[in-house]
Amino acid sequence: MSHHIEGYIYADLLLELARRNPNNLNYALTLVETQKLFQKGQSLVARRPGLFAGAGNGDRKIYDAQGRQSLPGTKARFEGDKATGDVVVDNAYEFHGGVKDFLAQVVKRNSIDDAGMALVGTVHYGRKYNNAFWNGSQMTYGDGDGDLFQTFVIEDVVGHEMAHGVTEHTSSLVYQGQSGALNEHFSDVVGVLCRQYRQKLSAADDSWLVGPGLWTKKVNGRALRDMLNPGTAYDDPKTGKDPQPAHMKDLYTGWSDNGGVHINSGIPNKAFATFARAVGGNAWERPFEIWYATNCGANRVTSKADFKAFVAKSLENCRALHPTLEADLKAAWAAVGL
Ligand SMILES: [Zn+2]
Repeated sequence: MSHHIEGYIYADLLLELARRNPNNLNYALTLVETQKLFQKGQSLVARRPGLFAGAGNGDRKIYDAQGRQSLPGTKARFEGDKATGDVVVDNAYEFHGGVKDFLAQVVKRNSIDDAGMALVGTVHYGRKYNNAFWNGSQMTYGDGDGDLFQTFVIEDVVGHEMAHGVTEHTSSLVYQGQSGALNEHFSDVVGVLCRQYRQKLSAADDSWLVGPGLWTKKVNGRALRDMLNPGTAYDDPKTGKDPQPAHMKDLYTGWSDNGGVHINSGIPNKAFATFARAVGGNAWERPFEIWYATNCGANRVTSKADFKAFVAKSLENCRALHPTLEADLKAAWAAVGL
């Protein structure tokens, strides 16, 4: 299986931050370290298969790298252990549990691989490390440099990255162009819904922000992305402006970011949030049931699906599962030009 490996802060954004903040080397260093870590992560799977193998129930295993750059680090808190008093360790434990519960209770899935794979995470990775990612076997979280970024242990970051693992095991959407933007989109949906489910927030009550709390107060920004209002999450000389389009007429067609996988995801993101708000109630119920069927179910998209293929498949699944919602779904897709 080829693992999708991309940091939560994607390479092109790290490059942009490095360019705009020439006196802060942490963005370039994070980029280099992330690339190296991916390679190590792959070999770690081969070297220590028991570490990640299914314990049967998606048990949590939180490790602490203690500012060093080795994985997985020292044991910090495993399933059933008491709180440690380190808020980052304890939040990671809590949020990993939130993803496990969301998968088990909302979509009846036994962990990421549906075979009880352990939910491993390492916190306090490196010094001033500005990223978090899923490397195919575990999560890794930096503390941020405190200049632009705070800790990466944020609830919807955990769900976002782990959802890449779910997609790997189901549709395997290719991480390039529109299929890659759909891969990113599905991860944003799961990340935000893990928060909504754990905090019992309805579609009307949630902010629909992706990564709120990630930027420090020095940045003019609310989050990394905004599903309801793509393109408005941040705008600051230190970061540039949120590049997400909210409509097909503004679709990014360049080569950066694997053909805009983190850019064009704004279009389906807005469609999902708009649909969920129109339906009302809890987004993880009927709206996500249709989305999960479309990305992971028996009648799912192929790995090379573009936006139009995803729209068509979502309408098929809507008619099969919740036919009364078809008009709302069509209207939500039409609102973004699809
Ligand atoms: Zn992602």
